[in-house]
Amino acid sequence: MSEIDGIQAIGCNVSSCKHFNDSKCTLASIQVGACTNASNGIAEDETLCMSYDRRKD
Ligand code: SF4
Repeated sequence: MSEIDGIQAIGCNVSSCKHFNDSKCTLASIQVGACTNASNGIAEDETLCMSYDRRKD
């Protein structure tokens, strides 16, 4: 394990995710994935949060 495991502060503005609260992610860690159909260097095309879980309410 990395020495920084468990101390990350994850800012997020995805309010439709059930792990979102007050501009932050409530998880201790997340998995970020690479999008496979883009190679343009634009962040929103290249990466995504694989820990996203749709808010049910
Ligand atoms: S799991 Fe991902 S999308 Fe959901 S609040 Fe955390 S960082 Fe944001």
